Amino acid sequence: MEIKKFGVVGAGQMGNGIVQVAATSGLDVLMSDINKEFTAKGLATIEKNLARSVEKQKITGSERDEILARISTTTDLADMAGVDYVVEAAVEREDLKFKIFQDLDTFCPAHAILASNTSSIPIGRIAAQTKRPDKVIGMHFMNPVPVMKLVEVIKGLATSQETFDITWSLCQKFGKTAAVANDFPGFIANRILLPMINEAVFCLYQGVGKAEDIDTVMKLGMNHPMGPLALADLIGLDTCLAIMETLYDGFKDSKYRPCPLLRKYVEVGWLGRKTGRGFYQY
Ligand code: NAD
Repeated sequence: MEIKKFGVVGAGQMGNGIVQVAATSGLDVLMSDINKEFTAKGLATIEKNLARSVEKQKITGSERDEILARISTTTDLADMAGVDYVVEAAVEREDLKFKIFQDLDTFCPAHAILASNTSSIPIGRIAAQTKRPDKVIGMHFMNPVPVMKLVEVIKGLATSQETFDITWSLCQKFGKTAAVANDFPGFIANRILLPMINEAVFCLYQGVGKAEDIDTVMKLGMNHPMGPLALADLIGLDTCLAIMETLYDGFKDSKYRPCPLLRKYVEVGWLGRKTGRGFYQY
């Protein structure tokens, strides 16, 4: 099956990045969110990123115009009726994703593949909300999407080989390297990353070190490009907490309990870069 029309649900930091990458690869892309303010913000981010690419002479001005011309926006999921492939990148909440997949299953054509960019929620649980579980798959991009090379592709129990093969070739079309994971909470990336971030938050919580020192140890001592607390601020502390909850609920193992300090920050709205305050101030 040839993918020509591509849909993305959610115009936040991941959603708009996926839209940019798909439109740059030559696909027509429809980006949706719950209101026009969010789709406009997503589009403005893409415009800013592309302007920077023109400045750096990575693309020409006319290439930028062509990419932007391939992107349209909507606030009505029913408009996904014309897409061949859709990636959902709405907030990391199971109830919300379940509803979106029920709606996509109603609105999208029978041949369309429904992918989720979920960080941690098992694909099988999402697929069970639809009448096409063979066409549901995880397509987990990394942040920032236009920069990061990896896509973790997650096969649910019912995901068909055809759905997997199409997703794998889309990753190549987008210039990404794919790695395959089976369907367990957190998959590979966040099963490993989030417990490390959570442990860094425990170090801060218990006064083992200040945020700057914890990050410096991991950057210079372990050769990580970013410290775990700065990375948590980039990911979004709400997303980090949601992933830890999914690991904890999914495995019923106390080693995945979220640090109380992480929960406290989320409760007061300190979500990291996107709200201007997390472990650091922006
Ligand atoms: P974000 O908060 O930046 O954006 C989420 C967007 O979803 C918002 O614009 C919001 O308005 C929109 N939304 C909420 N309900 C919706 C609905 N019913 N329909 C359509 N849109 C809706 O979050 P994000 O960081 O872009 O994360 C999105 C998804 O990507 C999550 O599942 C997250 O776990 C996953 N993810 C995040 C990262 C990361 O580093 N932040 C990395 C990989 C995957």
